[in-house]
Amino acid sequence: MGLFDKLIKDAVGNAVSEAMKQAIQPKADALAQQVIAQAADALNQAQQASSANAAPSDAQTANAQTAAEQPAAQNTAQMPSKEEMEAALGTLGSLFSGFAAKAAETMKLCPKCGESAAADKAFCQKCGAKLPDMTIAEGAKCPKCGRQNEPDTKFCAGCGEKLPGALLKEQAAAEADAEVLALWKKKLPDFPVWNCGGSEMMLEEIPDADTEAWRFSCRLESSAAASAAVRQYRQLLMQNGFQKEGQYPDEEHLYKRVNGVSMHCDTEHCFEGDSDSPDIYFNHSQPYGGYDYKKPESKPKQSGGLLGALFG
Ligand SMILES: [Zn+2]
Ligand SMILES: [Zn+2]
Repeated sequence: MGLFDKLIKDAVGNAVSEAMKQAIQPKADALAQQVIAQAADALNQAQQASSANAAPSDAQTANAQTAAEQPAAQNTAQMPSKEEMEAALGTLGSLFSGFAAKAAETMKLCPKCGESAAADKAFCQKCGAKLPDMTIAEGAKCPKCGRQNEPDTKFCAGCGEKLPGALLKEQAAAEADAEVLALWKKKLPDFPVWNCGGSEMMLEEIPDADTEAWRFSCRLESSAAASAAVRQYRQLLMQNGFQKEGQYPDEEHLYKRVNGVSMHCDTEHCFEGDSDSPDIYFNHSQPYGGYDYKKPESKPKQSGGLLGALFG
């Protein structure tokens, strides 16, 4: 993370969206350049002053090495101390906080995708969702005790009340999940609808697949919760007539034939991404070895002898 990224992050808090950071970034950059330019000016002046002080004298011209070293020594003396640097950074930090507070009063956040927008906009330019009436600042103002909290805060720092902006975000998230489940009913009617919890649901068609294929994902609160949710969904599949089939029967691949078409739910590569966000795949592929695969009967045990017992 760059220094200015860090300053912005410190100034606006971890919870504030990336969108807002982007909004204040240009001002922050401009300010940083101004501060750097002022510092360069100060350094130039200091250098000029030191070269004036170091006007050639007999002693200095006689000893070129001393003359060369002197301005350098003077420059070192002009360098700000660690404390001065920290104080300057603190000033920058509070200026950035000021920008963030100003931005919060004149901007809204899209509750659906998190994009920022000017307060007079009605719809999100990125995703088309209807924007709320409240600005970011209003969303962080407590309706119970009146405290103005940091932008994008979830609970009031004064009384613990859930803040309007957070409620709006939750509502939008629940609506987005409901949309995904409605799409599921339409596109994957033969697979029981996910009812195993989670949020940030997504259902995407996988392009270029030989057969129609879909990927579902959602986020759960922990790896353990995600594993439990997947086990729960496998049970739901089996309650709906899905079975272990084929040459490698296991619960990670469950199949069902519906009007001669193979329905396949694949949870084998479920956690190759995040361990708390399972990816579940749906397609029409057949089980390895086919539905009628019969496991070959094992050879009858050879009797007698130590070798027979070991290798039979
Ligand atoms: Zn949006
Ligand atoms: Zn409050």
